[in-house]
Amino acid sequence: MEVQQLLSKYMLEISKVSDEKSLYIALSGILRRITDYQTLNVISQSSILYSEPVNDIIDEALFMEYLPWVEERLYPTFLPKDDGYVGLIPIFKGKKLLSTIVLTTSDEPTAEVIDYLQLLSYLSGLTLENLRLIDFVDKTREYFETILNLSNDGIIVFYQGEIEFSNVKGSEIIEDYPIILQEIEEKIGDNETFFEVELPDTFLSVSTKEIELQGEPRILVDVRNITSEKEVEKLREVDKIKTNFIANVSHELKTPLTAIKAYTETIMNVPMTQEEIREFSETIYNQSLKLEGILNDLLDFSQLESHTLKILKEPTDLCEVVNRSILTVNHLAVHYDVKIEFDCNNSIEINCDKKRIEQIMVNLLTNAIKFSDKNKKQKIVRIEMENDDKTVKIVVEDNGVGIPADKLDRIFDKFYRADIELTYSIPGTGLGLAIVKEIVEMHNGTITVESREGEWTRFIVQLPKS
Ligand code: ADP
Repeated sequence: MEVQQLLSKYMLEISKVSDEKSLYIALSGILRRITDYQTLNVISQSSILYSEPVNDIIDEALFMEYLPWVEERLYPTFLPKDDGYVGLIPIFKGKKLLSTIVLTTSDEPTAEVIDYLQLLSYLSGLTLENLRLIDFVDKTREYFETILNLSNDGIIVFYQGEIEFSNVKGSEIIEDYPIILQEIEEKIGDNETFFEVELPDTFLSVSTKEIELQGEPRILVDVRNITSEKEVEKLREVDKIKTNFIANVSHELKTPLTAIKAYTETIMNVPMTQEEIREFSETIYNQSLKLEGILNDLLDFSQLESHTLKILKEPTDLCEVVNRSILTVNHLAVHYDVKIEFDCNNSIEINCDKKRIEQIMVNLLTNAIKFSDKNKKQKIVRIEMENDDKTVKIVVEDNGVGIPADKLDRIFDKFYRADIELTYSIPGTGLGLAIVKEIVEMHNGTITVESREGEWTRFIVQLPKS
């Protein structure tokens, strides 16, 4: 075969090689065709990368001192030795020596063959450099993947809406909670870069960042399982709520008890007129009603917890119930200087637990009065009722201190008291609305709240008529 043909065959071969060894096999094949070598070694930085025949190593003493010279010239060189030659063919890219072929021949190659060898080493250098680069890129990728796989965070990269990369933790999270992909897609659509996802029994925190690779945008997503952090947070909060609750209840019990004790002691020890004794007894009676109220709340709460709270439905005139509840809170309204407005034009009949609905109204009204705004000239609580064939809607609206927007969805929680300074100067246990909600729901009704902090609060109770 012509040398040129051999060269084009070689070019075809090396265009397909995928590792250094295959390149040297192809190279030694073509060298066999254009030289009469007996032994061929490929060396790089004093180590043998390849030898033909296998393990046939050429004595370093024959060529070592010439290597720097070859590296500088980057041109094939043949040195005479006892009964033949040692050839040194540098494989290079630009000015950089990548490896050197050392071979022994019996004849010295012609100038034409040396030119071909130079061409061969140049072509091989190009391929070798590419192979080494690819190898470097592969190894670098593996290296970073190992680092990323050690992470306890799920790391996922999206390219054109598809997952392009995911570390081990990322794949685990996707497998365990496939819904997370939908959540991520939605939130990315809303341009949110940090958000938390609450799943049954699991909390995940997600942060996203736009990144680019070769001018193409991608979304890098970091997902962290924060369930245990959230649990600790919740436990701490429950702990705090319980401590507050105990402090509140103790305070709530102590105030009327202290009054009862003081008034009784006075009656017992100080001579008094009949009228004075009646006045003192009235105070004692009112304080004991307060105590009874707290105990009833606690009792209701324990029934609510054990799901033994019962309702007894009977045909009820709602106007009558509301009017009775207004009477119950009247003394409080007078004390806080709050005006209660309620007009019942038509009687509204529904099937419900009369006592419990009255309890709801007393609770909502008590709150509306307690949380009235002392800086407002006119403090008003308005009750409105609407009804159609199926439902009755009762709205209790006040122009009091209002509830901060971020606390609104929590006020029906057990023990919860919106954490504004004022709350702690106002008596309460934080159980009222939890009980109210439970009673409303036991009637298959709903209760919602709307409020603007500093302006007004509106509770809306909807009850089915039958
Ligand atoms: P309590 O009144 O014993 O604190 P509730 O369960 O009845 O407990 O109410 C929970 C919390 O909701 C209150 O502590 C208060 O912060 C808030 N709240 C309820 N009703 C009103 C209202 N009408 N105006 C302002 N805040 C209210």
